[in-house]
Amino acid sequence: MLHTVPAFDRIGDENAFAVLARATALAQAGKDVINLGIGQPDFRTPAHIVEAAVKALRDGHHGYTPATGILPLREAVARRTLATTGVEVSPESVMIMPGGKPTMYAAIVMFGEPGVDILYPDPGFPIYRSMIEFTGARPVPVPMREENGFAFSAGETLALITPRTRLLILNSPANPTGGVTPRAEIEKLVKGLEAHPQVAILSDEIYDVMTYDGETHTSLLAFPEIRERLIVLNGWSKTWAMTGWRMGWSIWPNSAESGRLHDKVRKLAVNCWSCVNAPTQYAGIAAIDGPQDEVDRMMAAFDRRRKVVVEGLNSLPGISCITPKGAFYAFPNVAGTGWKAKPLASALLEEKGVALIGGPDFGVHGEGYLRLSYANSEENILRAIERMADFLAGGRPH
Ligand code: PLP
Repeated sequence: MLHTVPAFDRIGDENAFAVLARATALAQAGKDVINLGIGQPDFRTPAHIVEAAVKALRDGHHGYTPATGILPLREAVARRTLATTGVEVSPESVMIMPGGKPTMYAAIVMFGEPGVDILYPDPGFPIYRSMIEFTGARPVPVPMREENGFAFSAGETLALITPRTRLLILNSPANPTGGVTPRAEIEKLVKGLEAHPQVAILSDEIYDVMTYDGETHTSLLAFPEIRERLIVLNGWSKTWAMTGWRMGWSIWPNSAESGRLHDKVRKLAVNCWSCVNAPTQYAGIAAIDGPQDEVDRMMAAFDRRRKVVVEGLNSLPGISCITPKGAFYAFPNVAGTGWKAKPLASALLEEKGVALIGGPDFGVHGEGYLRLSYANSEENILRAIERMADFLAGGRPH
């Protein structure tokens, strides 16, 4: 057997992709599968965005671009950041990345090594923990609790920080819970971080516009006191239904005090992928600068489905679901069914053709929960709930 470095024995996976593969295989074998598993909008990328990419190719934009991304795109990101957060960022601090995930990768490998701690939300996006383990750093879960609406608790987060802590990962609105951390809690957290100047912050804000019931997203960019140690992750995948285009952006500090993080990530890009493909970058400008009516329509549909899914789940025996305030996920508590979450998710897929994800795929604090992505039609959501009701009424032993 070839000898690979131990880091590759520690690297994890994202089970949503395995569930998607199984659901697809079942569907190909003729089973009627309702997919509430994968976290991607079921809408098409708006036509004007697609056209911008086609035009870019026709205009000859098919060569390398700067590793940081083309300037008009970084300027568009700066304009959009000002519009959504009220904060001015320089296009020089923007990095165009091949998706949202590469920013996680870059930030975590930049700070992680044996002997240091990295704090991350649990339940949370599984790649955080996986990449932390890859670097040899110690992953320290910050529990996201149902009683807090799955928001970060400033007190609990700050209590986990030690002199070994190098990086704190935040995510709001959150995957997999739909939790949104209120501004007051973020203010408390930022205040507490003053006592820990060695801690860098990675704020994953990829669901920033996806909030409901008048809830607003607070960007960590709103706090100048942490700007020199803050990395903000964002991107096109969710907001403009562009998961397969593979492009995201992030904002990095570049002062001497910060350790010139932007320059470091630029060099990582030069070494790994050179640049994001050129036509996609032109599509990114069209997404930011073009009409947002399709985004609004998508959000209105998500909001309607959110109500349907929460009401449906709460009608099921042994299941209760708080109303998520953001993203497009519901995270029902299924402890009352007597089932462990992963066997329940797998039985629902195999026996009832309902694809969803067991909470433990998002961390140890996800036991007792399922994640349902409501990126599917209201009709399919209702059919899925009916099938779940049927399954639970069957009284199958677990
Ligand atoms: N961050 C969070 C919280 C996510 O849920 C996702 C995707 O599911 C990403 C980042 C990654 O986005 P991308 O597909 O652009 O890499």
